[in-house]
Amino acid sequence: MESISHSLIAYDVLEKRIINSGFCTLCGACEAACPTSALHIQKEKVERLHDCSEDIDICPICYEICPHSEALLLRSLSFVADAPVKNEALGYYRKIVLAQAVDQKLREQSHGGAVVTSLLKYGIETKFFDSAIVSQTEPENPAKPKPAVALVPDDILSAIGSKFFPSSVAKAYGRAVYGHGKTSIAFVGVPCHVLALRKMEAWQHKIIDHLKITIGLFCFGSFSLNSLLDYIEEEYKIKSSDIKRLRVASKFEVHTGNGVTQIPMREIEKHILPSCRTCTDFASELADISVGSAYPLPDWSTVIIRTKAGEDFFYDAVANGVINTWVIEQEPKVYERIVMAAMQKRKVALKEAKEMEEVYGYLPVLMLRETDALAEIKVEDIMATNITTVPKDMTVRQFLDYVAIHHHISYPIINEKGEPVGWATLEEASSVPKTKRDTTLISQISRRKPVVVYTDETALDAFKRMSENETGRVLIFDRANPRKLLGIVTKTDLMHTLTKQC
Ligand SMILES: Cc1cc2nc3c(=O)[nH]c(=O)nc-3n(C[C@H](O)[C@H](O)[C@H](O)COP(=O)(O)OP(=O)(O)OC[C@H]3O[C@@H](n4cnc5c(N)ncnc54)[C@H](O)[C@@H]3O)c2cc1C
Ligand code: SF4
Ligand code: SF4
Ligand code: SF4
Repeated sequence: MESISHSLIAYDVLEKRIINSGFCTLCGACEAACPTSALHIQKEKVERLHDCSEDIDICPICYEICPHSEALLLRSLSFVADAPVKNEALGYYRKIVLAQAVDQKLREQSHGGAVVTSLLKYGIETKFFDSAIVSQTEPENPAKPKPAVALVPDDILSAIGSKFFPSSVAKAYGRAVYGHGKTSIAFVGVPCHVLALRKMEAWQHKIIDHLKITIGLFCFGSFSLNSLLDYIEEEYKIKSSDIKRLRVASKFEVHTGNGVTQIPMREIEKHILPSCRTCTDFASELADISVGSAYPLPDWSTVIIRTKAGEDFFYDAVANGVINTWVIEQEPKVYERIVMAAMQKRKVALKEAKEMEEVYGYLPVLMLRETDALAEIKVEDIMATNITTVPKDMTVRQFLDYVAIHHHISYPIINEKGEPVGWATLEEASSVPKTKRDTTLISQISRRKPVVVYTDETALDAFKRMSENETGRVLIFDRANPRKLLGIVTKTDLMHTLTKQC
């Protein structure tokens, strides 16, 4: 069963597992989504401004929507899972093409085909969306990303190019909704940023109604800002204020008024954020449109179109003469390179996750997509058998007290014959008004029916049934005695299994 540690306030878990363990990539989703405005990113850290438990007694939001928690992954995946192609390395998609901005000046300024900038500019000009979340740079520190709400084409043009440090774009998304009153927003970010937005969508957070389209960037990792800039200053005597541009090619390039300094990637790998080492998503697998470089072609980008919304918008821009396209099948080296990069990132991350679990005692987040390995495993070999259930006549108040003692967020509800009849979840119980908690039974508010898998079935069957039913857990029965509950398998169990396989 899924555990939330020692509290019904998710911040305690977020602080322990993500922030203090060094897994935060400063996306700002927790700040944007917090219902009590308790969180704020300052000085490269998430801080809690006041003790939210004084305002609210139960709140799972910040931990669940954090891209580095294990929550909501399957539901997030469902937003792209209807695409016709499922590729082991690149995720679900409709089409892959090469593309570039028709405007040559834009291509010269970007690190690739300037496709993202062209799409955003086109979308604002045609009022396809009313604003876009971009990452500009701080005027006094040109290396430091400054997340911004772009309202006019000039805001978009000033954000062109990649910044290889964390950018709090999800926080800027919250500002677009609450500060600017925007209702149709384009969002650009690296895969963990896109995952944070998808998790908010899965959570049905009210701010997500205003999301129009997500453009995800390919990502090998982000560097820790202070750590890398201090290193460059110490080793290469380059002050951060003198840096005009940073670029990743075969080496890491630092551009200043005095020329270009090239640093081997290996030398600075240690400054990559800890979360990136366990991140399996290279190609922004949950975005509507994903964009990365098209190496070795210098001024082209690779575009992966995943959703119908992404396809319609992209080809509208193509039809209106903003973007040129080219068939990737004619450039096998480009395709091979992105597939290899994605496979390599996934392989390294799975291995690293296993090692980190030993250090931290829990599993850093993994994208649950490599399902084929699960076909070899029987559910009975991985199911948990120490099942904690709750009776169907338990009140919501009693249930919340029970949760505080047992530290799980969901429990099978059983009837008087011991048969499972539903699931009781913290999420549903916490939505019952305090005045009604003594008189409402958990069986009255339970929306989730038990999803069943039999002991002779595989972990892949369990995974498929979780996906079909949009649930993170299934109950295991013996076919010969279909009334006796034998065990439970959760998506976390499946992730453990995958890591062990790796
Ligand atoms: C940290 C990082 C690592 C990357 N690693 C790879 C890689 O290994 N392989 C690969 O093929 N591509 C990688 N990319 C993507 C690549 O650098 C280009 O961003 C992508 O090809 C789009 O190119 P473009 O010319 O269309 O974008 P442009 O037209 O130049 O637009 C780039 C857009 O990205 C946004 N942006 C820039 N930096 C950030 C950031 N840190 N966070 C959120 N948004 C940002 C800007 O707001 C801008 O709108 C990485 C990008 C980043 C930010
Ligand atoms: S109110 Fe909720 S989202 Fe905000 S800090 Fe507390 S637990 Fe996190
Ligand atoms: S939601 Fe984003 S900012 Fe908040 S803890 Fe997670 S990674 Fe950090
Ligand atoms: S490697 Fe993953 S965790 Fe790191 S910045 Fe990129 S998407 Fe985020």
